[in-house]
Amino acid sequence: MANERTLSIIKPDATERNITGLIIARLEASGLRVIAQKRVWWKKKDAKKFYDIHKGQPFYQDLVTFMTSGPIVLQVLEGEDAIAKNRAVMGATNPVDAEPGTIRKDFAVNMQRNSVHGSDSAETAKREIALCFKKGEIVG
Ligand code: UDP
Ligand code: MG
Repeated sequence: MANERTLSIIKPDATERNITGLIIARLEASGLRVIAQKRVWWKKKDAKKFYDIHKGQPFYQDLVTFMTSGPIVLQVLEGEDAIAKNRAVMGATNPVDAEPGTIRKDFAVNMQRNSVHGSDSAETAKREIALCFKKGEIVG
């Protein structure tokens, strides 16, 4: 296992319900460390670029609309095996399939409004961190 960085997003359904602290507590309890963090409200172009990989999927347009519907919290998480660990703490995309005790099982509204994003590989982590943060904003 290597020390890794991953991109985490707390989505609009969670900022709306004022549960960002509850979610961050789950991430920190797993051993992940927040080394960069900011609250932003994405424009359509930001969401489209970030989710470019899903362009053409039936859920893409609705996802862009959802992710621009309110503020979000962008975070870089660091730790041992951070990419897989974050995905494990998040739980499955559809909360119906998520393991008990995961963020999505406990907080997600449905498959779209599922409270958190996490990079799914080393390549996407690198791309997503670079898209969301300048080097100087990652402060440790
Ligand atoms: N999504 C959706 N419907 C689907 C699949 C995905 O609304 O059928 C949304 C959901 O918010 C999900 C995001 O699109 O988190 C990205 O999908 P992906 O398959 O990458 O899931 P994730 O990596 O977030 O678990
Ligand atoms: Mg994904």
